[in-house]
Parts: sequence; structure tokens; C-alpha cells
Amino acid sequence: MSKVRINSEALDNPGVTAIETLDVGRWTLDVGLKRSFERFGLPDRNDRVKENVPGAYYVDSTCIDCDVCRDTAPENFMRSDANSYSFVFNQPSTEEEKAACEEALTCCPVEAIGNDGE
Ligand code: SF4
Repeated sequence: MSKVRINSEALDNPGVTAIETLDVGRWTLDVGLKRSFERFGLPDRNDRVKENVPGAYYVDSTCIDCDVCRDTAPENFMRSDANSYSFVFNQPSTEEEKAACEEALTCCPVEAIGNDGE
């Protein structure tokens, strides 16, 4: 079991520190993560990777190439082998594909998937 807590003292700073606490056997480890506050949990439509096809869904440059979206919505997301990230190669056109893309957006661990509704 792990927990993520936000260091509230950092919230007024340009960066925010998140501490993930990991229970490893009888040990407890605090792992510090530092990200820009603006980027924490928000996909950025101005930071879309270049391979995305035009449309509502996109992947931004914070993708960590984890494969979740490609497993969840294989008709819409694929991998750039050259750049080691995912991108939208086909915008959803059916209700099933839209539901799969929404699931991918929700499940992306770094919230790199956006839907701007366009
Ligand atoms: S789920 Fe998110 S982090 Fe994982 S490959 Fe897809 S866009 Fe990248």
C-alpha cells in the first residue's frame, strides 16, 4: 500500500512537492517527487506530441510510455517507437471507442491524455 501526500508548505511556490510513502516489508520509505504546480494532474493541449491526429483527444509530452492507453483503447492510441510515448492515431468515431478513450484518459497514471472536446 502506498500513499501520496502533498507538502502544503510548497503550494505557494512555483513547484509542488509530493511525497509518496511506500511500505516495503517492515520498512517505510518516503519518496519525494517534484513537479510544476501547473502541470500537476493537468494535460496540456499546448504541449501535445506531434503525432496526434487533429481532434478532441491528445497525448501530451508527459507520457511515460506505460502502455495503459494502448491496452485500453487500441483502436485509438498507439506507440511512437522513435520517441517512446503514445499518441492518438485515430479519433474515436463510435460510442465504444469514445468510452474506451475516456477510460484511457481516466486511467492514465500521469494524466497525459486530454479531451478538449473539439
Ligand atoms: S496511459 Fe498515459 S502515460 Fe501511459 S502510455 Fe498512455 S498517455 Fe502515456
